[in-house]
Amino acid sequence: MGNTLDSRTFDAIVIGSGMSGGWAAKELCEKGLKTLVLERGRDVKHIKDYPTTNMYPWEFKHREQVPYEIQQANPVVSRCYAFREDAMHFFVKDTEHPYLQEKPFDWIRGYQVGGKSIMWARQTQRWSDFDFEGPQRDGFAVDWPIRYKDLSFWYSYVEKFAGISGNKDGLPNLPDGEFLPPMELTCVENYFKDFVAKNYKDRHVIYARCAHLTDPQPIHLEQGRGQCQKRTICQRGCPFGGYYNTNSTTIPFAVKTGNMTLRPFSVVHSIIYDDNKGKATGVRVIDSKTKETIDFFAKIIFVNAAAFNTNLILLNSKSHRFPDGLGNEHGLMGKFVAFHNYRARMSASYDGFKEFTTDGRRPTSAYIPRFRNLYRQETDFLRGYAATFSAARGMMPADLNGYGENLKNSLIATQEPGPWHISSQMMGETIPRETNHLSLDSDKKDEWGIPLLKISIDYDDNEEKMIKDFYTQMTEMYTDAGFINIKTSDSRQAPGLDIHEMGGVRMGKDPKTSLLNQWNQLHACANVFVTDGACMTSTSTQNPSLTYMALTARAVEYAVSKMKRNEL
Ligand SMILES: Cc1cc2nc3c(=O)[nH]c(=O)nc-3n(C[C@H](O)[C@H](O)[C@H](O)COP(=O)(O)OP(=O)(O)OC[C@H]3O[C@@H](n4cnc5c(N)ncnc54)[C@H](O)[C@@H]3O)c2cc1C
Ligand code: SF4
Repeated sequence: MGNTLDSRTFDAIVIGSGMSGGWAAKELCEKGLKTLVLERGRDVKHIKDYPTTNMYPWEFKHREQVPYEIQQANPVVSRCYAFREDAMHFFVKDTEHPYLQEKPFDWIRGYQVGGKSIMWARQTQRWSDFDFEGPQRDGFAVDWPIRYKDLSFWYSYVEKFAGISGNKDGLPNLPDGEFLPPMELTCVENYFKDFVAKNYKDRHVIYARCAHLTDPQPIHLEQGRGQCQKRTICQRGCPFGGYYNTNSTTIPFAVKTGNMTLRPFSVVHSIIYDDNKGKATGVRVIDSKTKETIDFFAKIIFVNAAAFNTNLILLNSKSHRFPDGLGNEHGLMGKFVAFHNYRARMSASYDGFKEFTTDGRRPTSAYIPRFRNLYRQETDFLRGYAATFSAARGMMPADLNGYGENLKNSLIATQEPGPWHISSQMMGETIPRETNHLSLDSDKKDEWGIPLLKISIDYDDNEEKMIKDFYTQMTEMYTDAGFINIKTSDSRQAPGLDIHEMGGVRMGKDPKTSLLNQWNQLHACANVFVTDGACMTSTSTQNPSLTYMALTARAVEYAVSKMKRNEL
């Protein structure tokens, strides 16, 4: 890339090349726009840059465990279950990119082409009107400017391309999508599913919808992807392209158009706003290798740096018109952030089905969609929770006696199926509160001269009450189903480990109480679009990435149609 004004001028700029940025890039390029994708990390090419993808456990120096000294130096990222020796290279280390925690917050990041789409857990449940209407019904947070009907076409659009496996369950609170066949449930999962269906009108146990190719369609074969082999080591990147990530799908499709320029090692400092023109004209970048400052220009800008970095970039985009951050006319930016409450877990065992066991692996689980406070407010807390559900049986050695070779031989010879182990994790909606907020530090800067992000986020009473209710309801269901050894546990983990941080640049109808309109367009700066988690008005209980992808494709369609009519 040269350095003339021409070579730095594009039709569109996308900031960030992760889950949502990949969609912005593909859609903009396919609509014929010359698009610059700015990514602060390195490039990661599908398969070629998955160095551990075909390694056996014994080929890792530390048998897939993170070495003690790395854990000690990086306590935050070490608390993430997927931060293991086989995928460490895809996670940001605490020491590399510091941030300030006014209250404990475990911020898990992936700075590379593909972002966190490489390491995600691939759960892809649609949102329903129970989610979009939540704030309007109970008055906490502002009303969403969209409803399910505005997004259902776009959910289908991204699902068909990404490849989502699932069962059509016909539930109003978890709409069906364009599904490839589901994987199987175990016999105890099926038993619990039937038990719940028989005993509760409003509760269901279903197969969790997930981004795995169980029956690749022509569009997936065209992407060079194949059937999921159920290796369950997806966080390394998959050589079969069995799960959806940006690197194997949206980015190569954007490349194919000939319209994309991908610039890795480009840390976005801010968006440039022209007071005279009354719009954004480009993006200021620090080259992370040379530390050079370079300005790039475009007619429209998509901000997809992941929720908190998007807040950071916008707050740091100061101009005469917007001294407190681009589009931040009413001091709302960075406020009303929320997350998912993942603290509570249940475990149990089951004495039946001794004649059956499980064998092999499955990269997903069963799912219990939200059933609390759907049709009416029935509890002393707002909103609700969904839960995972899984039941499996491991092989256990019957004889643990002996030493050395004798022990080894008896461990191999006396394997027999252990008890059925049952587990659930709560996935609770949290309420966006003004006091849960992000801001920029006025003194401390990172190595590129960008202010450090200060995070001030906490649980509140609503989350504590929700946890209690989850224990009560699940204990009742487990007990009645005949499960034994029922235990509850609270990880007491800080917010952040759910990796579903959202908000700060919320959508809404009124420019005084929100920053983005129904098309994810800044109310106060029409050629800037925010379609990652920063735009979320409330958090639902469902995993959010599918919704970011659908919102992004929808916003691109709108932006390009406006641009073609010279209205941006
Ligand atoms: C272990 C794990 C499990 C998860 N499981 C699920 C799940 O099951 N379901 C689900 O829905 N979600 C899940 N998630 C969350 C999911 O990964 C995120 O919601 C999703 O990746 C967010 O998409 P994004 O585009 O906003 O951000 P990302 O995918 O993180 O991409 C953001 C990109 O922007 C770049 N960037 C940041 N700042 C700048 C800057 N200043 N300049 C230039 N580039 C910048 C980053 O380097 C990155 O590449 C999981 C995440 C992890 C880590
Ligand atoms: S489980 Fe499927 S998607 Fe994950 S690594 Fe294995 S084959 Fe790939």
